[in-house]
Amino acid sequence: MEFAWSEQDAAFRRELVAFLDRELADWQRSETGLGSAVYSEFSRAFVGKLADKGWLTPHWPPEYGGGGQGAWQHFVLGEEMWKRGEPRGPQYMNVNWVGPALIKYGTEQQRRTLLPPIARGEVFWCQGFSEPEAGTDLAALRTRAVREGDGFVLNGQKIWTSYANVADYCFLLARTGSTASGRAGISVFLLPLDTPGVEVRRISGLVGEHSFNELFLTDAWIPAECLLGEENEGWRIVRRTLAYERVGAPRYARAALVLDRLAERCREAGLFGDEGIQEQFGAARAQCEAARVLVYRVIDERAKAKEPSPLANQARAAMVLAERAVGDLAVDVLGSEALAEGELGDAQFRNSLGAGIAAGSYEVQLNLITRLILKLPKD
Ligand SMILES: Cc1cc2nc3c(=O)[nH]c(=O)nc-3n(C[C@H](O)[C@H](O)[C@H](O)COP(=O)(O)OP(=O)(O)OC[C@H]3O[C@@H](n4cnc5c(N)ncnc54)[C@H](O)[C@@H]3O)c2cc1C
Repeated sequence: MEFAWSEQDAAFRRELVAFLDRELADWQRSETGLGSAVYSEFSRAFVGKLADKGWLTPHWPPEYGGGGQGAWQHFVLGEEMWKRGEPRGPQYMNVNWVGPALIKYGTEQQRRTLLPPIARGEVFWCQGFSEPEAGTDLAALRTRAVREGDGFVLNGQKIWTSYANVADYCFLLARTGSTASGRAGISVFLLPLDTPGVEVRRISGLVGEHSFNELFLTDAWIPAECLLGEENEGWRIVRRTLAYERVGAPRYARAALVLDRLAERCREAGLFGDEGIQEQFGAARAQCEAARVLVYRVIDERAKAKEPSPLANQARAAMVLAERAVGDLAVDVLGSEALAEGELGDAQFRNSLGAGIAAGSYEVQLNLITRLILKLPKD
């Protein structure tokens, strides 16, 4: 087993780090939230520069604007972005899972129309899955899509839709089967957000004032070309999509960096004399490393073109633990001042709360690990 980076990957990281140090010298992640106007304006300009270098979608096929590179290069990119607070903004969703879903399930027409603008960094997408009565139990969703003429009429409500206020499209789940059809009656729609009948309302939230939104759909008509895959095939698409999303953000990379900065603070304040604190640091470092290695197993599967597996659930759970360990440690060693706006523990602590809920909660990941990896009975 070889754990070292190839010379090619290492050289790519060096070049990337030098570029980011230059481009992001004056930038700090906006604490007003990923969906804020300031943040998304910055992201739009920044991803254009990445696209010019072929570093926005390096892992996509060249015919759709990608660089034809492997999964590892894409992941090195993700690690360096996440360490810096994800300057790609909402674009990280496009490149991690929206694009790959379009490549896998889209028609040639959808690929040719929708992928190049993502690869050029010109559009943002958001994810319209959750509803007020359908979060963990996603198959209970009630937003309806009914055939009318050459298209569908959408009615319903989505909630917690990150970045909908700045997005151009929504990757939307809606029910096309009967009310009782469960997973078998769900379809995916590629919804342009400027469609008449679509209304976005902001929700203030813990992860940032401008991050969450509700999406209201009232008799919103879209052409049949907006359907992704077959009608009622949505569940299969969404399972794959979530596997990509779960490890899309290398959260351990940011957590490890915050941990290093916390260690510096503690050293300066002479706090390492306390054995308890030393122990907490050791445990948090181990969590970050465990998460990193478990995520690498998923990327290794991807690089070998294997189908997504439950290793993604394991890796996600480990990342949540790593984020929580560092967020809790910040509060333990720095006290409540760690959570003051812009302070070291602030974004970390809030991220760690969100990480255990988004893309399937921590408890749901544990359920899936027991069922799919440990093969324990469901009840
Ligand atoms: C930062 C962040 C960003 C998000 N972005 C988006 C987005 O862009 N688009 C979108 O559609 N959604 C988004 N969400 C919503 C997210 O997907 C849901 O919050 C999540 O699926 C949980 O659903 P819920 O909030 O309805 O909680 P519930 O499903 O009501 O769960 C509440 C609690 O009960 C636990 N629980 C529920 N069922 C079980 C079970 N069977 N076994 C054990 N425990 C269980 C859960 O673990 C959780 O702790 C985001 C959430 C966060 C925090």
